[in-house]
Amino acid sequence: MNDIFINLLLLVAATFVSGHLLKDISEDIINSLIGKIVLGIGGGLLGILMMIYTIKIQDTTTLLDLRVFAIMMVSYIGGLIPTIVCGIIMWIFRTTHFGVSISSGVFLIQVILYIICFFIIDKKNKDFLKRWILKTLTSLFILITFFAYLLKDVENVITILFLFSLVIIFVAILEYYLLEYVRSSNELYRKYKKDSTKDFLTGLYNTRQFDSMLNTSFERTLENKERLSCLMIDIDHFKKVNDTYGHPIGDIVLSEVAKVIRNTARSIDVVGRIGGEEFCALLTNCPKDYAMEVALRIKTAIENYHIPIGEGKFIKVTVSVGVSSYPETLTNLNDLKEQADVALYNAKRSGRNRVCVNDFCKDS
Ligand code: GH3
Ligand code: MG
Ligand code: MG
Repeated sequence: MNDIFINLLLLVAATFVSGHLLKDISEDIINSLIGKIVLGIGGGLLGILMMIYTIKIQDTTTLLDLRVFAIMMVSYIGGLIPTIVCGIIMWIFRTTHFGVSISSGVFLIQVILYIICFFIIDKKNKDFLKRWILKTLTSLFILITFFAYLLKDVENVITILFLFSLVIIFVAILEYYLLEYVRSSNELYRKYKKDSTKDFLTGLYNTRQFDSMLNTSFERTLENKERLSCLMIDIDHFKKVNDTYGHPIGDIVLSEVAKVIRNTARSIDVVGRIGGEEFCALLTNCPKDYAMEVALRIKTAIENYHIPIGEGKFIKVTVSVGVSSYPETLTNLNDLKEQADVALYNAKRSGRNRVCVNDFCKDS
């Protein structure tokens, strides 16, 4: 019983450690081929540890342990590929460490059956709980069938198999609960992390994150002797949009304008929503003339965009943009945002729907 208990502790520890390691890794990496192989290797190592603390049945080469849960766990997290990798690693260890025997041959057949059955179960069922129950029942059936054969000459075989089945069912319930717990807390963690840096309406950086990235950009610009330009973008007469169409439509307009800005800027540029209907874009290593060009492109794209507001209706808005550029329009980087703000004010005061750098303005 001691070794089964150690197996259980290994499984619980591995569940939490893998959950902790995976929480900061993006889904794309986890779902990549390399990610799946690494996951399979991790599962294989867990299986090996479980086999080290195994119960050797007297007068046989049969080992009873919870290694099937290492395979079930990687199958739950990553599907087919990690299941194959994990199964192969465990079988290689089983054969090299404990020697070639009927039992090691049986384990190879078991691994192949797990891989095939788990793959079919995942293909046919969407629901995680249903998949887990089916995998548990399949594993139990495979284990009991083969052990009944391997242990046929052992005394008390019925009692051993009955107790082993109870342990498998108990661990399956506990492990499902733990995996779900880890999965939902990781999901919440990722959501809170995203919410703390991104503006929920537009998906752009929020003010706090934008300011922190502004400081990083300043450091980088000075260190690498780069250029840095700033666009301050404000929707014209936005209050009227809210007054005419209502606040929810105003929100749609904000989110659509944000999309245009994000899609028009380069991927290396930092774009944030820094006020109600005010956005700021930091153009990394970008000279003044190119910044003016980008600003005009954004202004024109928004001016020409028929924003869909539902029920087949569209509205149009315009923006004014203030531009500042280091080192061409200012000597102190700390004035970057402020100078773009003054230029924006000039754009508003001189008629809106235009781009200004200092008091030089362009409409197209
Ligand atoms: P200007 O051309 O001078 O910029 O005029 P404006 O009407 O755009 O500027 P003003 O500062 O007078 O009004 C900004 C409006 O933006 C007022 C406020 O209700 C609205 N607003 C701020 N945040 C949000 C938001 O999250 N959603 C919506 N729908 N409206 C918002
Ligand atoms: Mg405005
Ligand atoms: Mg404003």
